[in-house]
Amino acid sequence: MRLVLATANPHKAEEIRAALADTGIELEARPAEVGEIAETEDTLEGNALIKARSLWRATGLAALADDTGLFVDALGGEPGVLSARYAGADASDADNVAKLLSRLHGVSDRRARFRTVIALVGPAGEEMCVSGELEGVIVDDPRGSHGFGYDPVFVPGESGGRTLAELSLEEKTAVSHRGRALRALHDALSGRGAQGFEAPPVG
Ligand code: IMP
Repeated sequence: MRLVLATANPHKAEEIRAALADTGIELEARPAEVGEIAETEDTLEGNALIKARSLWRATGLAALADDTGLFVDALGGEPGVLSARYAGADASDADNVAKLLSRLHGVSDRRARFRTVIALVGPAGEEMCVSGELEGVIVDDPRGSHGFGYDPVFVPGESGGRTLAELSLEEKTAVSHRGRALRALHDALSGRGAQGFEAPPVG
């Protein structure tokens, strides 16, 4: 099977390639002529499916897309599906982190979770979603130089107090939302977990 990736992010594409290396699936990069795809849904599943369907329509190939959000309990689930645009349409990672820390100023409940949904649209338009989550807390002082996004202020339960930005890529992938979603995808495509494209959406 050939599968086209919706992500234009080379780091994510590399992670997906590594996770699916032993499945025999041929991965194709997102074609340059496919423009920006508006993420208009209010769920990660909805937005991941919008992206996967667009690539499937544009190429006629099976397509894979992911969407991730950070959900903070004390903020009623913010920034959630708006994680990339929390501090505005062109916000940088630093802007988003600064807004998050200012919203949490003086708040003692720091619990949060990352969630990644991966959507797959099959050659005949069949749809499937898998997901992965990572529980943790938001800390006030950013630490670490690895990773991206909210990594410097997110301490997962499994890291001995280190932020995600203080973990190597291998350590992060072993526990992370994206790593878990990719392992679920691998199982689904290897026929060991969900029943291929006929599986109902997860989560
Ligand atoms: P996307 O759906 O992967 O583009 O993620 C949306 C936003 O969530 C990104 O802009 C990042 O700020 C944040 N994000 C996604 N994955 C991670 C992660 O693994 N660590 C930290 N932040 C992330």
